[in-house]
Amino acid sequence: MIQLQLEGKTAVVTGATRGIGFEVARSLAKCGAKVACIGTNEEKLSKSVDQINSEGGSAKAYICDVSNAEKVKETAKLILTDFGKVDILVNNAGITRDMLMRRITDEQWNDVIGVNLNGTFYITRAFVESMRKSKWGRIVNISSISGLIGNPGQANYSASKAGVIGFTRTISKELANRNITVNAIAPGFIDTDMTAALSDVLIQGIKDRIPVGRIGKPEDIANAVLFFVSEEASFITGQIMAVDGGMIN
Ligand code: NAP
Repeated sequence: MIQLQLEGKTAVVTGATRGIGFEVARSLAKCGAKVACIGTNEEKLSKSVDQINSEGGSAKAYICDVSNAEKVKETAKLILTDFGKVDILVNNAGITRDMLMRRITDEQWNDVIGVNLNGTFYITRAFVESMRKSKWGRIVNISSISGLIGNPGQANYSASKAGVIGFTRTISKELANRNITVNAIAPGFIDTDMTAALSDVLIQGIKDRIPVGRIGKPEDIANAVLFFVSEEASFITGQIMAVDGGMIN
């Protein structure tokens, strides 16, 4: 793991219950940041936060559906009261509802856009004022290579993740003069619950298309997040970094 000095910094990570978000929250906490962990599953989120704290970190759980604008406002108020400020934000919460475009229902479309794209906007809007006041901030949005190159069966997901890329590029320009950087990571195929449902044959097929010859781990994404939040990355903003073992080169 990349080692940073993040003592005195407060981070918010959405979708910190498991998978990539959990590993990101854990890594930030290991570097000394206080971490507000957002998710919807109370029992699982509380277990994850307990694990981070038992490893010497400082984390707190907040139950919030990021697609609910009102709930996001309430939760942000609570987090800002508890921590006083937010310096680092990682918009990671995401869902899939895969289906060929011609069969996607309104619900499947709206659910995915609601969490992946609207959620990123609601959460960012809620915390950006705190960063503007401090004149320092780091926002890292988790997009996907599907948002860059598309993927059959994921029209809703790819649209949401491409939206995150446009959002990232635009707000990086709006916030740069406040010393706030905004970047996105486009993960390739990462071993989490999201990809666990795929058949072994499909997974082998994907593996064969990854030049480094392995599936990604949540730690691979967490390390990229640590790079973007570091002081050393202060001249990098509006960038989209694929972390995919070379898959879309
Ligand atoms: P995962 O294991 O399915 O975890 C998803 C996380 O999002 C969980 O912590 C879940 O928490 C949270 N979440 C879902 N809906 C939410 C909502 N409405 N409000 C708040 N939190 C919510 O997925 P993952 O693989 O770690 O994916 C993390 C991010 O990486 C996602 O944005 C995903 O699109 C992106 N990504 C993943 C891959 C991959 O191969 N795994 C590839 C490219 C991009 P609760 O269960 O508590 O709701």
